[in-house]
Amino acid sequence: MDCIFCGIAEGKIPCVKVYEDELILAFLDIAPICKGHVLVIPKEHHQSIASVPEATAGRMTRIAARIGIAFKRELDADGFNFHLSDGACAGQVVMHAHIHVVPRNPEDGFHWNWRQLKYASEDETKAIAEKIKQRIKG
Ligand code: 5GP
Ligand code: ZN
Repeated sequence: MDCIFCGIAEGKIPCVKVYEDELILAFLDIAPICKGHVLVIPKEHHQSIASVPEATAGRMTRIAARIGIAFKRELDADGFNFHLSDGACAGQVVMHAHIHVVPRNPEDGFHWNWRQLKYASEDETKAIAEKIKQRIKG
């Protein structure tokens, strides 16, 4: 399988590493939104975050949060974003699950272009929530 991030995890493709343990790896994005932008990946290949084992997914978010704190303490960031694209329609280009951690400042000039739709009715709102709730209940 030809996966860039597997190549990085196996040390066959170079990267600028910021963290590594037995489950995950974190390295600088080659084309950052803001300087310091990090990608956190599982070492094991999973296309979707949904199939990443819980211990690994938990480690990914924990380390991503610590990277965010490092941005604030060491790179003068005021805050940070987590971003995850799952599926091509969501903007996933590299089909190996990853969390983007992006340092942010008020003047960094980046905008998520977040639109704000409205639900047609309370019934529609509840029907959508109910479908999600039924599917994820443990
Ligand atoms: P996606 O759009 O799949 O969420 O993000 C993929 C990210 O991987 C992009 O931000 C892109 O810049 C980054 N990327 C792609 N190829 C490489 C690479 O070879 N090395 C590194 N460090 N980042 C990469
Ligand atoms: Zn992979």
